[in-house]
Amino acid sequence: MVAPLSRAQQQQVLARTEHFMCRAEAIHGRRFARIPVLFDLRGRAAGMFKAAGGQCWIRFNPWIFSKYFAENLRDTVPHEVAHYIVHAISRGRRVRPHGPQWQALMARFGAAAEVTFDRDLSGVPQRRQRRHPYRCACRVHQVSTTRHNRMLAGTGRYHCRYCDSLLVYTAP
Ligand SMILES: [Zn+2]
Ligand SMILES: [Zn+2]
Repeated sequence: MVAPLSRAQQQQVLARTEHFMCRAEAIHGRRFARIPVLFDLRGRAAGMFKAAGGQCWIRFNPWIFSKYFAENLRDTVPHEVAHYIVHAISRGRRVRPHGPQWQALMARFGAAAEVTFDRDLSGVPQRRQRRHPYRCACRVHQVSTTRHNRMLAGTGRYHCRYCDSLLVYTAP
């Protein structure tokens, strides 16, 4: 199992985030409000910028960030800061997340505008999807929570793709 970011490493990430915030202010000649930086992201991404309800924040995945610390400090931090700056500049106008403004800012940051990382994530805890057992005439199926809820609500019916009979919930 990969150890998540230590307190000291989190401080480094925050300092790096502030560094790119200052760079962005110098580039654009204006101030940008500081936003919360959280270390609570799970799943397969190292970082994420989120804007909802007039609020913005940056989230980092403490396991993936820790596993590839140097690369994430170099690439993921400017990547997420650039998302925030483009969001702040475009003032609600729709912009493509990795479009020209974002790419131009990444270039000014001297950061690689790579979007897809194909990293080995072994040892990184993954969000586990709960599964629910269902039976048809021929076998047991493991059904996702989304489908399970639809069937409970009566808004979805699923048939086995082998025997075509209706799936019926079997309590575990
Ligand atoms: Zn992105
Ligand atoms: Zn079947």
